[in-house]
Amino acid sequence: MRKPFLLTLLFLVGCGVTFPTNGPVHWHATVELNICGDLIDLPRIPPGQGHLGASLLHTHDDNIIHVEGVVQRPEDITVGRFFRSIGMDVTSESVGEYGKTLSCGGSGQLTAYVNGEEDPDFLDHSVRDGDVIQLMFG
Ligand SMILES: [Zn+2]
Repeated sequence: MRKPFLLTLLFLVGCGVTFPTNGPVHWHATVELNICGDLIDLPRIPPGQGHLGASLLHTHDDNIIHVEGVVQRPEDITVGRFFRSIGMDVTSESVGEYGKTLSCGGSGQLTAYVNGEEDPDFLDHSVRDGDVIQLMFG
């Protein structure tokens, strides 16, 4: 029984994140949107603004989620919140109109990966520094 305990301990130490965070953080997670086989960009920053989204959760024309500030709760920085903060309509089955009124002539399925693993609950994933979020619609 020692080994599972040790693994659990290593897991907790390896995560190393407690909430609220110990002061402001500045984390980056990559977003890759593959729609009908094409890589598309996140929405761009409106003219005259420094970023798109909320101060805690935003993007800078770089297809990267920026988490900046003190994070009170893990649910404050989920992938779903990020998309809402930048005004992008993403559900577990659709990206914008893709999956609702548009398809690519394929299966019309959205498949999401978080750090290389398929994750149907990606919208509830709480972003961590270095994460890679991939959405494939086709
Ligand atoms: Zn940043």
